[in-house]
Amino acid sequence: MQISRRTVLAGAAAAVVAFDPVNLGWLTSADAEPGVRIPALDGELLVDEASRAAVADDYGHLVHRMPVAVLRPGSVRDIQKVVRFANRHGLKVAVRGQGHSTYGQGQTTGVVIDSSTLGTIHRIGYGQAVADAGVRWLELIRAAVQAGQTPPVATDYLGLSVGGTLSVGGIGGATSRHGLLVDNVLSLEVVTGEGEVVHCSPSVCPDLFHAVLGGLGQFAVITRATVRLIPAPTTARVYHLTYPDLPSYLTAQRRAVGDQRFSYLEGQSTPTGLLLEGVTYYTPPAAPSDPALVSDLAAASVEISEMPYFDWLNRVYDLVQQLLPLRLPGPWINVFIPDEAVEGYASAVLPTTAPNDVVLLYPVRRDLIGEPFVRLPNSPVVWLLAVLRAVSPPDAAEIRRLTALNRTQYDQAVAAGGTHYPVGAIPLTRADWRAHYGRRWAAFRSAKRRYDPRNVLAPGQGIFG
Ligand SMILES: Cc1cc2nc3c(=O)[nH]c(=O)nc-3n(C[C@H](O)[C@H](O)[C@H](O)COP(=O)(O)OP(=O)(O)OC[C@H]3O[C@@H](n4cnc5c(N)ncnc54)[C@H](O)[C@@H]3O)c2cc1C
Repeated sequence: MQISRRTVLAGAAAAVVAFDPVNLGWLTSADAEPGVRIPALDGELLVDEASRAAVADDYGHLVHRMPVAVLRPGSVRDIQKVVRFANRHGLKVAVRGQGHSTYGQGQTTGVVIDSSTLGTIHRIGYGQAVADAGVRWLELIRAAVQAGQTPPVATDYLGLSVGGTLSVGGIGGATSRHGLLVDNVLSLEVVTGEGEVVHCSPSVCPDLFHAVLGGLGQFAVITRATVRLIPAPTTARVYHLTYPDLPSYLTAQRRAVGDQRFSYLEGQSTPTGLLLEGVTYYTPPAAPSDPALVSDLAAASVEISEMPYFDWLNRVYDLVQQLLPLRLPGPWINVFIPDEAVEGYASAVLPTTAPNDVVLLYPVRRDLIGEPFVRLPNSPVVWLLAVLRAVSPPDAAEIRRLTALNRTQYDQAVAAGGTHYPVGAIPLTRADWRAHYGRRWAAFRSAKRRYDPRNVLAPGQGIFG
C-alpha cells in the first residue's frame, strides 16, 4: 500500500499499516500488533481528515457521512482487496463517481472508493467504446465524437461518471429514441460484493449484468463498461416551442414522442409557460424539414437554432461547473409518472415550484427501457418530472420544508402509479424500497443475497439498512 503524502501530513507520524476492527480505527507500525494488516495496494488508502471530509458530501450538501478511509484505487485488484477486507471486518463500502447524488447515495461511514483514479478510456472501436467506470461522459463522448461516433444517449450534464450513471439508469433527450444509458451497454467488468472480478454481458453471467445496470450499486462495483456507439452527426438543429398551458403542452409532447420525429425530446416548465425542446441531429447535406417537424404541434411560438453536435450535448456543463463552488443545498425530486396521471400530478406539483427551480417534464417510451431494476410505471408513455431545486441562500428550515415536500410529492406520485428516479432527496424507508421494486423485490433481494451476501456495498440508499 502507498501511504499518501496527505496522510502523513495529516498527522500520522508513522505510516498506517493496520486496521483496528474493534474500534474502527487505523494503526501505525508502532501499535499495529492487535490490528489487522491492510493488504498491499497499487493505489492509496487515505485516512486523513481532509480526504475523508471531501467525500462526506455530495451535490445535494444535505447528508454528511464521514468514512473511516478513502481508497483511491490504482487497479481493479485494489477494489477487490478492499471489498474482501470489508467483508472480513464488517465494513461498508460505497463507490463515489463524481459525487453528484443529492442525498448521500454514494456515502458511507465505512470505506469510500473514489473511482476517479480509474479513469482510462481503453478503446474507441467501431460501434463500441471501452472505458473505466471512473471516466466522465464528457471525456468519453468527446473522444468518440472525434472518432466520428457517439453513444446513442447522453445525460444533460456530462460531468457524471460512467459507473455512477450506469448504476442509476441515465436518462436524457435521446431516451425517447434509444432508451436509457443502461439500455446501451454491451458488457461490464465488475467486482461483486464478495470481491470476485466478473466479466458479464447479456450472454455471459446475464443475471449479474442485468442486476448491476440500474442496480444502485447493490450487487457489484462497476469497474469497466463497454458501451454502444453509433455514427455521430455533425449538427444539432434545436426547436424551442412554447405553450401557455399544461394540456396543450402535453398534447404536443405526446404527438412528438409518439412518432419519434425528433432525435432528442425534452421539455421544461418555466415561470412564463411550458417549453418543448426538440432537436434533430443531422449531417449536411441532409437537412431536416422545419415545417414537417413543428407545424402540427400547435405551439404559441417557435424558435429554431443550430449548433455543432458536441456543443449541444455539452451545453449545460459550464453552467453546472459555475454553480458547484456555491455549494447550494439541492433537495431534488425526480419521479416517473404514467401518462394517464401526468396532467393531474403535474397540475399539483408545478405550482409548488420556485422561479429558480429547473423543472423538467418530458415523456419517454416505456418499450425502449428494458433493465429490470430500473423501476418505471407500467404505461406505454411515462413522464419524467424533475424538480431541481437549489436553496439560496442556504437555510436549514427551508431545506427541511423542501425535503418534507419531496416526501409528500413522492407519496402522491406513488398513489398515481408513479415511481422515483433514485438520484434525488426523498427520505425513504426500507418498506418504501420494497414497494418501489414491487413484484421485482424478490429478485432484487435474491440478487443481493447472491452477489453481496454480507451487505457490504452501497449502504447510502438505505435499501437493506
Ligand atoms: C447537475 C446534475 C445533472 C444531472 N443530469 C442528469 C441527467 O441528465 N440524466 C440522469 O439520468 N441523471 C442526471 N443526474 C443524476 C446523476 O445521473 C446521478 O446522480 C448519478 O448517480 C451521478 O453520477 P456520479 O458519477 O456523480 O455518481 P455518485 O453520485 O458518485 O454515485 C451515485 C451512486 O452510484 C453508485 N456508484 C457510483 N459509481 C459506481 C460504480 N463504479 N459501481 C457501482 N456503483 C457506483 C454510488 O455508490 C451511488 O450509490 C444529474 C445530476 C446532477 C448533479
